[in-house]
Amino acid sequence: MDYDVVVIGAGPAGYVAAIRAAQLGLKTACIEKGKLGGTCLNVGCIPSKALLHSSELFWKLSHEYADNGIDVKGARFDLSLMMQRKEGIVRGFNAGIEGLFKKNKVTWISGQARLASPTSIDVDGKSISARYIILATGSEPIALPFLKFDEKQVLSSTGALMLEKVPKRLIVIGAGVIGVELGSVYRRLGSEVVFIEFLDRICPAFDGALSSGLQKCLSAQGMEFYLSHRVMSADLSGSGVSLMAQGPSSQMQFKGDAVLVAIGRRPFTKNLQLEAAGVQCDEKGRIVVDASFRTNVKTIFAIGDVVDGPMLAHKASEEGVAVAELIANHRPVVDYASIASVAYTYPEVAAVGFTEEELKAKGISYRVGQFPFKANSRARCNGEDEGFVKVLAQHGSNRLLGVHILGAHASELIAEGAFAIRMRASAEDLADTCHAHPTLSESLKEAALAAVKAAIHM
Ligand SMILES: Cc1cc2nc3c(=O)[nH]c(=O)nc-3n(C[C@H](O)[C@H](O)[C@H](O)COP(=O)(O)OP(=O)(O)OC[C@H]3O[C@@H](n4cnc5c(N)ncnc54)[C@H](O)[C@@H]3O)c2cc1C
Repeated sequence: MDYDVVVIGAGPAGYVAAIRAAQLGLKTACIEKGKLGGTCLNVGCIPSKALLHSSELFWKLSHEYADNGIDVKGARFDLSLMMQRKEGIVRGFNAGIEGLFKKNKVTWISGQARLASPTSIDVDGKSISARYIILATGSEPIALPFLKFDEKQVLSSTGALMLEKVPKRLIVIGAGVIGVELGSVYRRLGSEVVFIEFLDRICPAFDGALSSGLQKCLSAQGMEFYLSHRVMSADLSGSGVSLMAQGPSSQMQFKGDAVLVAIGRRPFTKNLQLEAAGVQCDEKGRIVVDASFRTNVKTIFAIGDVVDGPMLAHKASEEGVAVAELIANHRPVVDYASIASVAYTYPEVAAVGFTEEELKAKGISYRVGQFPFKANSRARCNGEDEGFVKVLAQHGSNRLLGVHILGAHASELIAEGAFAIRMRASAEDLADTCHAHPTLSESLKEAALAAVKAAIHM
């Protein structure tokens, strides 16, 4: 055998699995057909957050600085410099992963991998054998049959991260996390942004209070939402895009300079030749694995977006570490209950654990504690007082079941909620923990107090 472990795909699932396997003394290679870092680094988490940051600075210049006594009239931006900055950050991390591979003695093989058998892989005509193969080939954006991506007028998230011009009017189909993040970028840079969403709420995976709270905030920033509307057809024959959508009672026409299709992602296994090794997928194209990430072929494992579960980079990386440790006969645990989800809008949304809707559906009785950032001194000092923290605790035991945050820096604050849920903490544990003053995190304490006793500052 050439290797103990060969990983296919160098996204956050694959590159992390390869590094951990090598750290555990396994002779490891990682095959990648594109750039190191996968979707997350090259066309996902990192470039989107770089553009969100740049565009938020610009938005704040014109909407918040004056309130602080700072005069910045006439501020302008240069989109190509914003894009260059973003690319620079991505390239830095591409090199960082290459360095980590070298440091940990992971062999990086550049090329398209195809399974040849349960223990062998063809990489652009060269055969490689391994005791174990880890499939980490990720996911790709879903297109609508009548709107093929050209990445100029009809954009996937990848194209939307690389525009050369800010569209005057951008239509976003799908108001999920990726849609609202990229819609926010262009709204802040001056686009009129219109969302067409099939469901009756935005970001439906979040607790209803967060979805509706976020929609209010984004609407106040000038974004328009058409919920319960399904796009039926498109006309691209003119200079822009024209879409027909069916609403609850009538059809509506939407016109824009460009359309971003953000209706979800699907597992990516194209050209992998799963059939050559006999690996099975489910009806949604996800590779089927057991609790140990093992496929129906005992030498082949699969992790990350290509298997069931939330399509999140940190979930993918947790699975990467766990699968390597399992192969090395350790007993790792991925605690799916404490995996947080975030939308990096302004304000941000972050959540861990069950939503109120899920608890109702499961028939679990619970108590709710909520605390608004308007009553938090740090949030007021920062001029970032939109939103609230909502804590859900089990009735009786007060065990924390969910922590939900709409507010500035929610993505950072949620780590405390994730840790508390991981530690099986109660709302009292959170409420009894002394939080530094003045901090946004005091709102978590106050929301937990509201769930079990009473908040002090409300
Ligand atoms: C715009 C956007 C923003 C996002 N923001 C966030 C965020 O803020 N936070 C978050 O947690 N998640 C975010 N995500 C999701 C996140 O990017 C994915 O969940 C994550 O990248 C999945 O990791 P993965 O390793 O499973 O797959 P990927 O990152 O997709 O990596 C798979 C890799 O496999 C390679 N590959 C595929 N087939 C082969 C083959 N046959 N041979 C060789 N190589 C192959 C691909 O080239 C790719 O590099 C975002 C996604 C998008 C699109």
